[in-house]
Amino acid sequence: MTILDGKKTSQEIKEEIKVTVTSMKERGERVPHLAAVLVGNDGASLTYVGSKVRSCEQIGFESTLIRLEEEISEEELLLQIDQLNKDKTLDGYIVQLPLPKHINEERILLAIDPKKDVDGFHPANFGRMALDLDAFIPATPFGIIQLLERYEVPTSGKHCVVVGRSHIVGRPISILMSQKGPAGDATVTVAHSRTKNLSELTKQADIIVMALGIPEYLTADMVKEGATIIDVGITRVADESHPKGYVIKGDVAFDEVAAKSSFITPVPGGVGPMTIAMLLKNTLLARQWNQA
Ligand code: NDP
Repeated sequence: MTILDGKKTSQEIKEEIKVTVTSMKERGERVPHLAAVLVGNDGASLTYVGSKVRSCEQIGFESTLIRLEEEISEEELLLQIDQLNKDKTLDGYIVQLPLPKHINEERILLAIDPKKDVDGFHPANFGRMALDLDAFIPATPFGIIQLLERYEVPTSGKHCVVVGRSHIVGRPISILMSQKGPAGDATVTVAHSRTKNLSELTKQADIIVMALGIPEYLTADMVKEGATIIDVGITRVADESHPKGYVIKGDVAFDEVAAKSSFITPVPGGVGPMTIAMLLKNTLLARQWNQA
């Protein structure tokens, strides 16, 4: 059994980006610049945005954190988006989700210039991705593809069952893995909350991508011997014995499933760190594409 080590691989990707940024600096070019818009004071969002900004600093990107009041109106936020779209010193930006309830998320995401949409959530990018054109691929599925590629996990002709059909994980990874090319050419089944007899499907799968958000849902009896397991789930589970008062759990009962699998991602240290690395990769791509 091989652990698909997202911590190590994401570090390698960041090092590769750092080398490119260093040579940009040496040539006197402007370095990539990522901005993050954070509305309100949600603790988890603050943590996520903080680590994105810190990662930018580590690899030599310029970064800007734009913090806005929870009470900001939709119109004011749209004005802020418009300014970011026009800012020629900025290559890409993200609007950290979720937004407060009085703001229409879809309206905000549609206002982002697709050329700066490094989260890859704009329909223009999603459509381009689905059509095999150059696009910003959402960071989590992009990270999964990188892990599969770099560990040379066989995918061609394999049966992949994706559990979850969200727009940011399940749906895009199912499209990417069925496309031609590296980490693709799989026969993909997409499962969701209405799927009947899920374990009959997962037991046939060569690759299982779990992206539903229910801790330790996938157990050993649902998996065939030698399967590859990608665990996207991140759930905080209360645990008084832990200093933080919680532990992070994935969607896979790791120990028992790992014993049967050929490749598996741990939680934490699997898909999570890859997500940030691929956001940085998208920002570098934005810098390169937009200057071309
Ligand atoms: P969503 O809640 O948007 O989607 C969950 C999906 O799981 C839905 O499609 C839902 O089906 C399906 N589902 C729910 N219950 C079942 C069930 N019992 N059987 C089969 N399918 C089910 O979640 P996300 O995709 O945003 O996130 C999934 C998990 O991944 C979460 O734990 C999240 O925290 C984590 N995550 C981790 C990231 C990382 O960087 N590692 C990044 C993004 C997310 P239906 O459509 O029918 O409702």
